Amino acid sequence: MKRDTAILIIYTGGTIGMVHEPVSGALVPFNFDHILQQVPELRRFDFRIDTLTFSPLIDSSEITPENWIKLAATITEKYNSYNGFVILHGTDTMAYTASALSFMLRNLYKPVILTGSQLPIGVLRTDGKENLITSAEIAASTINGKPAVPEVCIYFENRLYRGNRTTKLSAEHFKAFESPNYPPLAEAGIDIKFNSDAILYPTVRQNLKLVTSYSSDVAILKLFPGITARLAGRILETPRLKGVVLESYGAGNAPTHKDFIDKIAAFCNKGGVVVNVTQCFRGSVNQSIYETGRALTSAGVISGNDMTTEAAITKLMIVAGSCPGKEEIERLMKKPLCGEIAV
Ligand code: ASP
Repeated sequence: MKRDTAILIIYTGGTIGMVHEPVSGALVPFNFDHILQQVPELRRFDFRIDTLTFSPLIDSSEITPENWIKLAATITEKYNSYNGFVILHGTDTMAYTASALSFMLRNLYKPVILTGSQLPIGVLRTDGKENLITSAEIAASTINGKPAVPEVCIYFENRLYRGNRTTKLSAEHFKAFESPNYPPLAEAGIDIKFNSDAILYPTVRQNLKLVTSYSSDVAILKLFPGITARLAGRILETPRLKGVVLESYGAGNAPTHKDFIDKIAAFCNKGGVVVNVTQCFRGSVNQSIYETGRALTSAGVISGNDMTTEAAITKLMIVAGSCPGKEEIERLMKKPLCGEIAV
């Protein structure tokens, strides 16, 4: 055994550990021993594996920012005792949790790998075993004596992604996640091949800093043809609202009719922040290409470039929670904090 290497697996819930409830047949979370029984292979690793079970175990649709804080605080508390961390989490909101953790765990220097599965671990064809075993291996991996991937990541179906670049892709295929605008950080075949050019290695090692302040006074406004200024106004005039992620069309376009743009401009003028991300699966916002994008710039909307909605909304929550000024929020929203946005 590599006596000096240890990882911590934190079980939060999700399909991976669920079993069918006898009466209703619905999938409900089950205890961690059940997972360990299903994956005896974990004992064959030459490093130590400790486990921690959150209570209550939850379906990830129930996740809240308080759960993110609990996770980030646990990792911070145990940071010096482990080489890496694996978080077992439901797939539904895994991309949000991975994004939020990346903004909460500043100066991270160790792997934090989120994984789960589409089929419970007790089911014969489960994808959970491979996901768990390889995540554990990645969490313990080093290159030249340093952590192989010092980032918050999602590992799923043979690929390791930067967590704040991912989105859930499928409710049925084993390949449940994709990183539409950033290459995978590793691919697991016969060997695990790390894509070192894509991984963020801090040049200066700084102490881990836990950021727990967040604001819930944020919203996502998704455009659709026919959206009324009245509806947009209802959202934008919400008392105390600090920021909105606007899911626009294509390269960042929105209708230019005056009533609609006036609602956005009024929100921006009174100190609100609007961050524009695209509804497209892949690509980025460039508000200077079309008149329909320029109108947003004039109204005070800033570009979210190639951020996913999940990264944009969690970043906005955390940034707005710790820095109340509009200019500072906008500056940080445009700046890469941990690889979530192209430079
Ligand atoms: N509803 C489940 C969850 O997100 C789905 C899954 O784990 O895949 O917790």
